[in-house]
Amino acid sequence: MAITGKFAGNCKRRWGRPRGIAPTHNNHLFSRTPRLSSKITRRGDPSWSPLTVSKVFHVNSGMKLRDKKQAGFPLSPQTKPYLCAMRFDIVTVLPGLLESPFAHSILQRAQKKGIAEIHVHNLRDYSTQKQKSVDDYPYGGGSGMVMTIDPFARIIEKLKGERDYDEVIFMSPDGETLNQQIANQLSIKTNIIILCGHYKGIDQRIRDIFVTREISIGDYVLSGGELPAAVLVDAVVRLIPGVLSDETSALSDSFQDGLLDAPVYTRPADWNGHKVPDILLSGNTPEVEKWRFEQAVERTRKRRPDLLDE
Ligand code: SAH
Repeated sequence: MAITGKFAGNCKRRWGRPRGIAPTHNNHLFSRTPRLSSKITRRGDPSWSPLTVSKVFHVNSGMKLRDKKQAGFPLSPQTKPYLCAMRFDIVTVLPGLLESPFAHSILQRAQKKGIAEIHVHNLRDYSTQKQKSVDDYPYGGGSGMVMTIDPFARIIEKLKGERDYDEVIFMSPDGETLNQQIANQLSIKTNIIILCGHYKGIDQRIRDIFVTREISIGDYVLSGGELPAAVLVDAVVRLIPGVLSDETSALSDSFQDGLLDAPVYTRPADWNGHKVPDILLSGNTPEVEKWRFEQAVERTRKRRPDLLDE
């Protein structure tokens, strides 16, 4: 089973926006930065260019918010933006587990547009053992089976023979914990292999020889690497320019600028006496932006003070 787009994985760089910067240049970009918005160009302004977007993020990254400084982009006003599709090759013993997450919504749209290509490979197809087994008893005894090196080596070498890969990632609870900065970093890569473990884990030699990066999705143990792989791919693909519409701009999401998101409301304005804040109905865009920024700071201070320098 392969969930694929038609893109061959070899992409040509072209001028566009830097990956990881939201594919939008409307007011969403400025919703957190009322004090900066007067200094930067806006849509409709003849001096606007795609570069403005990276400038905006660069300016933002100078704010006293720790995570902005660690945004993970090669950010500078000189940054040359580009648009390039991404290819993921996910290696698993349970390919069926990965069918649904990539067959809906934003991930499905990204593949249809040819912006992301997601291939799921059944590790058992690379086993030379009877009954296609991919695991064995652990040396030294103990509980749980260990995934063997041979099938992994075969699929990785086959894929590497077809194209260059930027990373071979092993999903593992003892890896670095996934965060927005890591997603941003990965979103500027082109080809990525993701290995999903099972049982007790994979033979350490696979990690030593082939793996370039190990990523955990949190301090808890799941039974396999498939759900973590889906989480990682979703977090990365939504950052590729062209994947999200303006209305779902990634740039205004929590963590992207070191702040949690502001509260959001929609109709009705009054639900059984529970009213939407007046400011949002005022039509005063600068004041709305200011309010959202203040709300985001307040929410971050209350819920995640660790994100703020203060
Ligand atoms: N014995 C291992 C856990 C194995 S769980 C240990 O204690 O570290 C089986 C597989 O599930 C792992 O090899 C890994 O691929 C995946 N997995 C489990 N929890 C995960 C997590 N929090 N993040 C990423 N992958 C995880």
